[in-house]
Amino acid sequence: MASLPAKPWPTGDALQLEPLVRRVLAPNPSPYTYTGTQTYIVSAGDGCAVIDPGPAEAEHIDALLTAVGDEPVIAIMCTHTHRDHSPASRPLAERTGAPIVGCAPLVMNDSGPRADASFDRDYAPDRVLHDGEAMSGPGWTLRAVATPGHVSNHLCFALEESGALFTGDHVMGWSTSVVVPPDGDMTDYMRSLEALGMREDRVYYPAHGEAVKKPQQLVRGMLGHRRQRERQILRHLAEGPHRAEDFVPKMYRGLDEKLHGAARMSVLAHLIDLERRGLVARSDDTWQMA
Ligand SMILES: [Zn+2]
Repeated sequence: MASLPAKPWPTGDALQLEPLVRRVLAPNPSPYTYTGTQTYIVSAGDGCAVIDPGPAEAEHIDALLTAVGDEPVIAIMCTHTHRDHSPASRPLAERTGAPIVGCAPLVMNDSGPRADASFDRDYAPDRVLHDGEAMSGPGWTLRAVATPGHVSNHLCFALEESGALFTGDHVMGWSTSVVVPPDGDMTDYMRSLEALGMREDRVYYPAHGEAVKKPQQLVRGMLGHRRQRERQILRHLAEGPHRAEDFVPKMYRGLDEKLHGAARMSVLAHLIDLERRGLVARSDDTWQMA
């Protein structure tokens, strides 16, 4: 896990990353968001897309509108509906008249365990992009790449003109992505990582952390890391039954206490995946070798 970069952070500034892409950092740093959510503006000068508008904080929305200037906003695009990504889509749509395009709303049972406080339940897209469908504007085409796992409705967007991939929270530049069951699904997450490994994107622009300049190498490393976690879990289970929380101090030495809950959920996501594959079994909240 990367330590935070030295301040001042470029919160609110529009940084040009390549001819078609600028990035604006939102003022929402936290143990889960690193320096904050990074909103991307894709434009060839004649009408832009805003990707992952971020939290609905006035300061951030003003920064985005300043960066966009007089240019029409063609689409507001969301990779997924965690609260640090999509809530600003509504005030931004109101102020620019642009449609909200991208991931599907998350279907949740309102009283079930999927009713997670971290989800933006008010997200209302004008157009949902399915895997392989594209949104285009003057000089740019953004094609959806379905990447369920971190959450079930997650999309990445491929900028066809430049070979960049906006990876949202599927692959981040500072840490492994958190997979929280039941909506987060490790089986899907691994499959989505493998799918990215087959692509030939030039660079990843994640919602948190620096751009990834050697994407295939990172994806291979992440797949290896997850498989190693899996082997660790099986090794501990070979010694006897465990609850998900029992693994955390053994597997995540030195982890910030604030992140222990996330680590436990990540272990649980692996256990569910291993259970599906017939390798482990559970009774109530205790797990053992199958
Ligand atoms: Zn995020």
